[in-house]
Amino acid sequence: MKTAQNRSPFPLQGVQKSLSLFQYCGRAIQLVWTTDRLLTIGLALLTLIAGLLPALVAYLGKLIIDAVVLAAETNTLRGQWVALQYLGIEAIVVAVLSGSQQGIALCQSLLRVLLGQKVNELILEKSLTLDLAHFEDSEFYDKMTRARREASTRPLSLVGRTFGLVKDTLSLVTYGSLLLQFSLWAVLLLMLAAIPAFIAETRFAQVAFRLFRRRAPETREQHYLETLLAREDFAMEVKLYQLGEMLLDRYRTIFNRIYSEDRDLTVRRSLWSYLLSLLSTATFYATYVWIVMEAIGGRISLGDLTMYLVVFRQGQSTFSGLLTSVGGMYEDSLYLSNLYEFLEEEVPESSGYATYGHLPDDGIRFENVSFTYPGSTTPALKNVSFHLRPGEKLAIVGKNGSGKTTLIKLLTRLYSPDAGRILLDGRDLQEWDLEVLQRRIGVIFQNFVRYQFTVGENVGAGDVEFFDEEPRWWLATEKGTARSFVEEMPEGFQTRLGRWFKGGRELSGGQWQKIALSRAFMRSRADILVLDEPTSAVDAEAEVEIFNQLRAVTQHQMAILISHRFSTVRMADQIMVLVNGEVLEQGTHEELMQAGEQYARLFTLQAAGYR
Ligand code: ADP
Repeated sequence: MKTAQNRSPFPLQGVQKSLSLFQYCGRAIQLVWTTDRLLTIGLALLTLIAGLLPALVAYLGKLIIDAVVLAAETNTLRGQWVALQYLGIEAIVVAVLSGSQQGIALCQSLLRVLLGQKVNELILEKSLTLDLAHFEDSEFYDKMTRARREASTRPLSLVGRTFGLVKDTLSLVTYGSLLLQFSLWAVLLLMLAAIPAFIAETRFAQVAFRLFRRRAPETREQHYLETLLAREDFAMEVKLYQLGEMLLDRYRTIFNRIYSEDRDLTVRRSLWSYLLSLLSTATFYATYVWIVMEAIGGRISLGDLTMYLVVFRQGQSTFSGLLTSVGGMYEDSLYLSNLYEFLEEEVPESSGYATYGHLPDDGIRFENVSFTYPGSTTPALKNVSFHLRPGEKLAIVGKNGSGKTTLIKLLTRLYSPDAGRILLDGRDLQEWDLEVLQRRIGVIFQNFVRYQFTVGENVGAGDVEFFDEEPRWWLATEKGTARSFVEEMPEGFQTRLGRWFKGGRELSGGQWQKIALSRAFMRSRADILVLDEPTSAVDAEAEVEIFNQLRAVTQHQMAILISHRFSTVRMADQIMVLVNGEVLEQGTHEELMQAGEQYARLFTLQAAGYR
């Protein structure tokens, strides 16, 4: 979704858009309501109390002064008693009022915490449903950043302001009815003087929001720089290449640019705010003169004089507070629109429901598969075809960027082909139930995840259903040739890996790969094993061991192996050479050697290196 409101050619449309933004009040209230009903009800009730009592306090003030004046004139004990009684009542009402204000603050701070968690959960839940393509799309990332940055505070702020609006309206109506006894003009004057400030506030809110929106990429870059500077996995390189100062400089530059824009806006905002508040002060004193003249003329009592002054002054600040609330609600809505834009991002429904194929012995077929990454112009795969039967092993060879990983992404349905078909057991991959499909595949990607969990959990992650089952961990590490070094660890499977948390142990690259390999074997029900350069970091001896193992334990499974080491590639039943996304050669090691083309050339080259 592009930001239509910024480019709308018709002012009327802009207004409509602004109005429709207020729809988020309802949604915010709903969100708060589902977060905690009791607190929401409490907040609503306290708001009512806090809205009605201030006018009562003003009215009691009038009664007190009139009673005092009367008591002074008549000098009776009863007169004094009446005045003191009013005073007592006012004290109680004020105590209740401040209690309700405190209660509102309490409810709000509890709700703030709950709501922050709730919104974060919503965002995380949403991100679970997203495609890989979303995560690789920078525009989408900006959307997510914007949603995450302000979204946990804005809904409550919006609800607070909505309730504040109700409270202020109640106060204002009660003030207004008191002031109306003085003059209708005074009421109108009070309202008119607040409008310019309101218009200014709303305009500034819009500008601030546009700034915020435009800045998402910069903010993201800032976060990224923070990560580079502060994360252990980057620390080694950043230190050795002495990139620290340069990165920090970039970080500062971004901040300074953002700050100078913010400062300008804040200064202008506060200047206008001051000028417009002068207008309110002028109106106040004009009315003051008027009320005082009425009192001197004896047309109103001394009690009336104080009440009207209080009511006018408070009414004025309540009314401008009310308008500021409306402006603030508008601002909150703008930010909330970000959140909902993210939460409502369309996720294509996974369409397949099939749990089995018609030809269970057919294995995997690629039929003229082509694929271009979104936003890219050159295809990553062109017309790729092959057939892998159950039990067979396919090795894919090719330079970096030739499309090997892309092929795996298509097979695991992280992406879907633009043309051609991929069949599993005689059924198009698109028809398969995604979970069933993915359960059948055990995969290690080149950039597999190094979970900062225990060894056991790192292996168990291969099959969440059996995540905690130690006997399965043993079996998997056995197959993944990681058993010997796991046994040597101080706490065995309970040893925490990585350096992020206390007591964590860092592994070598090769050891991590063996852990990842074990993770793939943890998926014991998977009959397709995909290994994307699983042994690039292990030594040659270990690699031979891994592949002998692999052959032994995967006799009935299909395996797709990506490797740059021809000594292991040659063991595969089929070898496929990819060049720029196209299949150049395909066959067994012997066939390809006989053909004497690229494969034979590369094989001989590498073999010569070992002689
Ligand atoms: P290989 O695994 O053989 O090294 P890949 O399959 O990762 O190669 O990449 C094939 C081509 O697709 C490369 O030109 C690469 O730049 C491009 N590519 C890979 N991933 C993406 C992506 N997420 N978005 C756009 N292009 C990509």
